Amino acid sequence: MFTADYLNVKNGHLCAGECDTVELAKTHGTPLYVMDEDTVRKNCRMFKTCMEKNYQNALVLFASKALNCLEMCRIANEEGLGLDVVSGGEIYTALKAGFPADRMFFHGNNKTRDELCLALDNHIGTIVVDNLFELEELNELCGEKGVKANIMFRIKPGIDAHTHDFIRTGQIDSKFGLALENGEALEAVKEAVKLPNVTLTGLHCHIGSQIFGDEPFKEAAKVMLRFYKQLKDELGLELADLNLGGGFGIKYLESDQPMAYDAFMAQVAVIVHDFCKQNGLCEPRILIEPGRSIVGAAGITLYTVGAVKEIKNVRNYVTIDGGMCDNPRYALYQSAYTVVNASQADKPADYTATIAGKCCESGDLIGENIKIAKPDKGDILAVLSTGAYNYSMASNYNRNPRAEMVMVKDGKARTIIKRESYEDLIRNDI
Ligand SMILES: *Cc1c(COP(=O)(O)O)cnc(C)c1O
Repeated sequence: MFTADYLNVKNGHLCAGECDTVELAKTHGTPLYVMDEDTVRKNCRMFKTCMEKNYQNALVLFASKALNCLEMCRIANEEGLGLDVVSGGEIYTALKAGFPADRMFFHGNNKTRDELCLALDNHIGTIVVDNLFELEELNELCGEKGVKANIMFRIKPGIDAHTHDFIRTGQIDSKFGLALENGEALEAVKEAVKLPNVTLTGLHCHIGSQIFGDEPFKEAAKVMLRFYKQLKDELGLELADLNLGGGFGIKYLESDQPMAYDAFMAQVAVIVHDFCKQNGLCEPRILIEPGRSIVGAAGITLYTVGAVKEIKNVRNYVTIDGGMCDNPRYALYQSAYTVVNASQADKPADYTATIAGKCCESGDLIGENIKIAKPDKGDILAVLSTGAYNYSMASNYNRNPRAEMVMVKDGKARTIIKRESYEDLIRNDI
């Protein structure tokens, strides 16, 4: 019934990290994001241990766009991870959290000049360059500032990961990165090694998100390794780092089967070892960038049920006090969720509901035909596996203030992101 083991039922209520979620909703208000600290840390350690066990020369980066806030940056730092940042705002947040700049990797398909300056001025460890325009601009900026930047290139390995179109990024028709098959990646490498102000340390690929099969990842690793060999053969260039990205799927529904990460890392390690041995290549350091798989299943969102509209022979609308503002993923990609009536968590989930938000959009839904225990007005609903790409994608549409986030641990909850006030909403209005 649940998507993670920090969730259980006590006295008929859903509990998260030993906290009664109905009580949390009462104390903190709704919508409320709830993150389980132990689960987040356990996931960080799991990836780190997997890599250390299977391939020693490795670094795990938390793809912070899944959930970027001060506390998550602090936790990622405490757990010894690196950080993938994709905007000036994410860099700023991470720096304010005391995250070491040298363990940050700056991604993005159209970094602005200001963002590049921010990264250079703060000595961000590596800039993952997306295209030749950026390469040129970065080299020039470094020259002006008298600094040298470590760079990687974002490569499209030409792998089609079987996931939603909007979260597929490895194929040639993608706005991200440089393609291998038309030679633009090779051109970029040749160009970069000529430039005085950048040091090419490796290549990066990221083939998509919420991917279940391990085949596309392994295929991408092989494609990238073949390119490493080509670079050695043609340019005599051996790169130190190989970043294989993130995108590991998580459990949103009972039926979702995430890959066994440990077995997967072991297989990737074998692929890299074997290829390098057979081809006389130095083994690169391997980087991976899990985002969703670190925070996704570690979070839930609580809402209060308002009106229930039963439209005979059509559907039952159960309305909640949040929606696309705090979780736009159904509106964006029809993402499926497990929902629990947290107030009646011991009752059978035999009522079919379309869970609708409060925004002025018909598409503002959390999901359709979802099975929950029949809700009464005022019940608390919990949407599971909302720790990734919910808060980080939240908006103020309809001037809804952004929701609060609490971190639960050992039966205690502490606020890590305050609820926005109406005053916050007009802060920048003139
Ligand atoms: C989004 C992203 C990730 C993380 O993806 P998840 O699906 O959250 O694991 C990693 N690397 C890059 C470059 C990304 O854009």
